[in-house]
Amino acid sequence: MRIALMELRRGLDELALVGTPDELKLPGEWFRHPVEALVRVQPLLGGWRLSLSLQTRVHRVCDRCLVEVELPVSEEDSCLILPEAERPSVDEEDRVLLFVPDQEWVEVDQVVRDALRLSQPEYFVCRPECRGMCPACGQDWNEGECGCQPAAPDSPFTTLATLRKPL
Ligand SMILES: [Zn+2]
Ligand SMILES: [Zn+2]
Repeated sequence: MRIALMELRRGLDELALVGTPDELKLPGEWFRHPVEALVRVQPLLGGWRLSLSLQTRVHRVCDRCLVEVELPVSEEDSCLILPEAERPSVDEEDRVLLFVPDQEWVEVDQVVRDALRLSQPEYFVCRPECRGMCPACGQDWNEGECGCQPAAPDSPFTTLATLRKPL
């Protein structure tokens, strides 16, 4: 996703960008739909502050019940686009993209990629109350009980282990 510096210099205050997961180098098993970015621009220190609202859909497989789900993702992030000379004068809480005098474009791909990657937990559950699946027969326990005998039906540790499964 590239933004022309000329457009920013002209005083553009909002723009919309679209990128494919491929272009943005997002993991293809999760990201299969275009990413839309609405970018709001504010002048700052001879450069600009960009606020990005990102939207896409992700494809995930539940780590408890193995059901595949597709869900919308919305993320907000921001970055600063500054002339190289301004580097030392900013505290860098935001990501800073520097540009040189004759540069024509800035790339915000990495900002977008990081925001979307961080939105996705490694361990994914389709919903907090997902009951998982039977390890013996593969029955989805969200759809009903199976006839399998639990390994240790009366052990309090069985329940504890289920409750303590990380989200
Ligand atoms: Zn699930
Ligand atoms: Zn079973």
